[in-house]
Amino acid sequence: MPAPDSGYIGRFAPTPSGHLHFGSLLAALASYLDARQHEGQWLLRIEDLDTPRNLPGADQHILHTLDALGLHWDGPVIWQSQRLEHYHAVLDDWLQRDLAFYCNCSRQDLKTFGGVYPGTCRQRQLPADPSHAIRVRVDERLITATDRLQAPLAICLSADPGDFVVRRRDGIIAYQLAVVVDDVMQGVTDIVRGADLLDSTPRQLWLYQLLSAPIPRYLHIPLMLQQDGDKLSKRLGSTPINSDQAPASLFHALQTLAQQPPTELANAPTNEQLDWAIANWQPQRLPAAPQFNEIYPSVS
Ligand code: GLU
Repeated sequence: MPAPDSGYIGRFAPTPSGHLHFGSLLAALASYLDARQHEGQWLLRIEDLDTPRNLPGADQHILHTLDALGLHWDGPVIWQSQRLEHYHAVLDDWLQRDLAFYCNCSRQDLKTFGGVYPGTCRQRQLPADPSHAIRVRVDERLITATDRLQAPLAICLSADPGDFVVRRRDGIIAYQLAVVVDDVMQGVTDIVRGADLLDSTPRQLWLYQLLSAPIPRYLHIPLMLQQDGDKLSKRLGSTPINSDQAPASLFHALQTLAQQPPTELANAPTNEQLDWAIANWQPQRLPAAPQFNEIYPSVS
């Protein structure tokens, strides 16, 4: 698919560990509105690599629900599980160039280091073994990340988390690697997603450097919390969006994203709501904090 004249390519990249719920609708809608307002493309990628966590049928539910909401994507949907050879090619290259190494430390071995990798296998030159993890080397340089909404970050990866895992011991490609390889391959220029991923951004910026790829712009939207303060997530079994109530869900999402949609749109068809929202999208209205202050009450 040729790049749009605007040069903007955005995406929504859900993990099918559950159905589309209100929290993921906010990320989908914000990324959609930002892409459409910039006359950009909006791609859809299913991040289904963590197979034990995949919920059968969740990917189809996500596609169907986005469609019912009028959130139509551009081009074919990509499933990461069909792209394994691309991730392995990158890993082979990094191993060969000594940018990555095999590690056979067990969780138990690492426990005492409080989540920071102590460098145990850095110099050990362990031979290739499918039951070893693969880590990328990091250094002392400060990684700085800017965001259109959140405060800038400056992180020294060698202090925390140290050389990090890009292929797990169970052979599963780590999210950090797959997301960057795919965003680079798909030419994504703008990443709009939940602020729970702010933490991952410095590691991902490191991988962009290893791939010599231009870095995207970021907009991390605040997270939705349940009344007890937990993130509103698929894992918590939050209520899936019901396609039959697409206009009401969409309207509620626009309100939650602080877009102040006019009340007469409340029962309007989704395409009318979206036309208004694209023309009036103002991400700066979102609270500049990793979490929404308003607590979303109606979660079962
Ligand atoms: N697949 C991730 C999730 O559903 C999102 C990845 C991203 O937007 O970078 O939480």
